[in-house]
Amino acid sequence: MTTQQGDLQFVPTMGALHAGHGTVIRAASAMGPVLVSVFVNPLQFGPDEDLARYPRRLESDLALAEQWGAAALWAPSAEQIYPQGGERHPPTIQVPPGLQKHLCGAVRPGHFDGVVTVVARLLDLVRPRQLWLGEKDWQQLVILRWLVAHLALPVIVQGVATVREADGLALSSRNQYLSPDQRRMAAALPKALQAIRGDASDPLSALRGSLSDAGFDVEYVQRVDPRTLQPCGHETAISLLAAAVRCGSTRLIDHAFLMTRQPLVAIDGPAGAGKSTVTRAFAERLGLVYLDTGAMYRSVTWFVQQRGVDPSDGLAIEPLLNDLDIQLQSLPGGAQQVLVNGEDVSTAIRSPEVTASVSAVAAHRSVRQALTVQQKAMGSKGGLVAEGRDIGTAVFPDADLKVFLTATVAERARRRALDLEQRGFAVPDRADLEAQIAERDRLDSSREEAPLMQADDAIELVTDGMDIDVVIEALVRLFRDRVAEEAWPTPQR
Ligand code: C5P
Repeated sequence: MTTQQGDLQFVPTMGALHAGHGTVIRAASAMGPVLVSVFVNPLQFGPDEDLARYPRRLESDLALAEQWGAAALWAPSAEQIYPQGGERHPPTIQVPPGLQKHLCGAVRPGHFDGVVTVVARLLDLVRPRQLWLGEKDWQQLVILRWLVAHLALPVIVQGVATVREADGLALSSRNQYLSPDQRRMAAALPKALQAIRGDASDPLSALRGSLSDAGFDVEYVQRVDPRTLQPCGHETAISLLAAAVRCGSTRLIDHAFLMTRQPLVAIDGPAGAGKSTVTRAFAERLGLVYLDTGAMYRSVTWFVQQRGVDPSDGLAIEPLLNDLDIQLQSLPGGAQQVLVNGEDVSTAIRSPEVTASVSAVAAHRSVRQALTVQQKAMGSKGGLVAEGRDIGTAVFPDADLKVFLTATVAERARRRALDLEQRGFAVPDRADLEAQIAERDRLDSSREEAPLMQADDAIELVTDGMDIDVVIEALVRLFRDRVAEEAWPTPQR
């Protein structure tokens, strides 16, 4: 797959379209022309499953897709999709065992191999810019994200939050199998899932119990890490609680996100990698509070200099911390105002004098401890993206997403020069700037207390040659691999 067709948005379906598909198609059509495919893929049905009776309603699908803004609907034949053998065509791609060992993969052997095989084929024929999927089939979404990464396909996967009926039942083409009585009963599935709290002591037994009490045959209840799909407990701050049940003969699946707090994102990296700019924009895109911890270390440094204390004298600095109150306030438009004992120091803390001494001040244990305590308190409920040097390692080791944002020294010196110029400060020689940056890297990485380093589970992003918008998009995608729209909706702009 080498070429993409402009900004084509692709919504693959098995037809029998309902308002859930409608939401996906509408969201996709805001980004470009939408192609909807309708193909009941025989490969993803087991021998005892409902392939023969799966609802087929091409005419009404066509009318609905058009009404929701699709540019075209495509209903290929099995021969077009599987030229070498239609329904007997074996899956050509195997999903890694880890991703299909739990949830539906455990009870529908071969199902996800069939799903990835058909989607790979569809993507090869369609070559869209973006692939749109519902979050309802969360395991499928995770596995298709794996597929796109595995084949290095130039397509962006977009997940859309589950659409529900007024009584909470997730929309599904299979809901039409339900009799009126079963339909009433089915609402107990989302209700039971929603009733479980993030801090419940034994959520799986509680859920299993209430589903049985409601009259369902329980196929599975599981709690997994939403990204790895491996079983987890409450130590995972945002987990997926998923269930599959039989309501009569109809199989229903649904899930809820158990959250012990709102999402937390940690962005670390060396000076001048562009962290502040992208983190601020990322925070705004996702409705998270932006915390610039460098500004806090700069504030201490500014205060130390005001008091005429030597930045390297840890013993003299320690008592000053008691007289210091740092407040960070978000201004409309995303900028951050920094107040030290009520005084606005937002500009002063960016001066070359502060920059030259901040690494020395930030290396003192007393300074780090004081600021780390304050930062942990600010993030205790989540809903925050913090940027700094030790966020993923020392401040929020349980962050849902950790990114190590970096760039070469030469690239960072180039950006620093631009930044200084824009702020109206004198711009040193490029060689001097590079030396300063390399020295700050050395001090930050070699200090004893919480040195700058990449957390084991952080994702490294080297931003040389990347536009800011591209970096922000990459961060949003990494976030969405871990945190569903349903758990933390993107605010409408
Ligand atoms: O990001 P910024 O350049 O404003 O950070 C200034 C300095 O503050 C860093 O070079 C580092 O010495 C210190 N710092 C830190 N830990 C953080 C954030 C910043 O030590 N979490």
